[in-house]
Amino acid sequence: MGKKVVVTGVPGVGKTTVINGAMERLAAEGVAYTAVNFGTFMFDVARNEDLVSNRDEMRKLGKDDQKRLQQAAASGIAAMSADANIIIDTHSSVKTPAGFLAGLPAWVLRELMPDMVVLVETDPDQILMRRLGDASRVRDMEGAREITEHQEFNRAVSAAYAMYTGCTIKIVKNENFLLEKGIDDLVSVLR
Ligand code: AMP
Ligand code: MG
Repeated sequence: MGKKVVVTGVPGVGKTTVINGAMERLAAEGVAYTAVNFGTFMFDVARNEDLVSNRDEMRKLGKDDQKRLQQAAASGIAAMSADANIIIDTHSSVKTPAGFLAGLPAWVLRELMPDMVVLVETDPDQILMRRLGDASRVRDMEGAREITEHQEFNRAVSAAYAMYTGCTIKIVKNENFLLEKGIDDLVSVLR
């Protein structure tokens, strides 16, 4: 069985950047991982159904649509080789107009059964600045306090994931000017 590692963090914290750095480092060491983006699996279905025109619109969809897309993504990812080591780039919770939606509810966990959930975190002020500087995405406008609340909720809901699956929870910091340190931390748990 390959290792299944779920990497999460609030939008703009730099999950994808840390994952890409870790993948590069691991490839150089001969450790093979396949990285998949959960949101991309959802978006492929959503776009086909003409529900959205960009990936940032998905979190505004009705709860039932989001859950259906989530289920489709989980099945698609679960269908990948059981022998492969897989990193799943996703969210512990998604901030929707109706409140926080669990990124890994029971039916998703049953499909994925991760060995580990990684929480990528940093200072809310840093996340705020990163969002402002990212023209490629439609990031939510929120203050540092709301970002803190979201990061706190992500830790809380991740405790439930640990209870459900027996996975470990690893916190990785992606602080300004310390990306390499974050990558080192992630690599150390993926080897
Ligand atoms: P990302 O590119 O990681 O920011 O993901 C884009 C979008 O995909 C998010 O804003 C969510 O709407 C959706 N998404 C990703 N992972 C999940 C998940 N586990 N559950 C629900 N929605 C998700
Ligand atoms: Mg990303």
